[in-house]
Amino acid sequence: MKENFRRHSLCQARDTVVSIGLEEYRAEQIFKWIWQKNAEDFSKMTNLSRALREDLDRRYSIAGLEIAGLVREGQGAHKYLLRLEDGKEIESVFMREGRRRTICVSCQVGCPLGCRFCATGLIGLTRNLYAYEIADQVRVIQKAVGEKCTNVVFMGMGEPFLNFVEVVAALEIISSPLGLGVGRRHTTLSTVGLVEGMEALLRSPIRAKLAVSLNFADEEQRREYMPAARYNSLLDIMKVAKAYSCEKEMVTFEYVMIKGVNDRLSDAKRLVRLLRGIPSKINLIPYNEHPRLPFRRPADQRIEKFYEYLLNSHHTVVIRKSKGQKILAGCGQLSGKA
Ligand code: SAH
Ligand code: SF4
Repeated sequence: MKENFRRHSLCQARDTVVSIGLEEYRAEQIFKWIWQKNAEDFSKMTNLSRALREDLDRRYSIAGLEIAGLVREGQGAHKYLLRLEDGKEIESVFMREGRRRTICVSCQVGCPLGCRFCATGLIGLTRNLYAYEIADQVRVIQKAVGEKCTNVVFMGMGEPFLNFVEVVAALEIISSPLGLGVGRRHTTLSTVGLVEGMEALLRSPIRAKLAVSLNFADEEQRREYMPAARYNSLLDIMKVAKAYSCEKEMVTFEYVMIKGVNDRLSDAKRLVRLLRGIPSKINLIPYNEHPRLPFRRPADQRIEKFYEYLLNSHHTVVIRKSKGQKILAGCGQLSGKA
């Protein structure tokens, strides 16, 4: 099988074209063809000589992800099942809201962290995605819907800090003006709260936003529902989150509200205590139910009460209107069976 040229970062593409005797700027031309102009083979790259196109075609493919399934919920949310080169499948979601066009990408096939309430956690990990497989979710979906994506969130399948090198390389392609051109500040990494990864992001020059899936303000309960919490204490998470908010971008805390589990007023009070002194925003996510999981969404009234308590405690808080719930495209509902 020919090597896929999409695997190249811009830097690697420059090295490669130079190594086969071409000028360095050819790499930028090819990069634009494959990421911006959706070229499906080298023959379409009309600003390259025919001999060069044929040479490249002998050496490389530029195959992208294939759309293997699509489910839509009205105009607002589309869930795509995308097939990778090795036949494995992942899910990505497109959401339209006002002027915003958000694509929620996966960074792993499945996830090894096994949060008890999450459908992706149920299936375990098959493998990490390569950078081009992450970035290509954005390209393929943009092309399919015929609209430019404004925001990219890593809230699909997988944990970004367990595949950090490829996620960083994907961000390069996603935000490069020669690639997909989505602004750095319009990209968000969502983590279950892996402290080492959060620190690495803090120390790196990357300007992406950070969202932390807190979900529980009680350490014991968090450990019970989120196994990764056993190795990442709330105290350590809060320390790095505070530094991130102060030194880089305001952190968002996600709180999935599960009926009878973490939706009481006492939970809201504990959350307020935990977040004291940390500049942050809270996203309340009413639980998205899944046929293979026993958990339920709290009643609206309950969610409102929780919300109002946080608001009255001077927190910036939004209830995330869940898009795509009916088509199992909401947060934590992705399990690769569109
Ligand atoms: N692994 C990363 C990113 C993917 S999960 C993380 O955990 O942050 C994306 C978000 O979906 C997380 O905030 C997670 O807590 C939330 N989530 C998981 N299962 C859910 C469900 N059934 N309903 C609502 N949100 C869920
Ligand atoms: Fe993995 Fe995130 Fe789901 Fe937990 S919530 S199992 S970390 S995808």
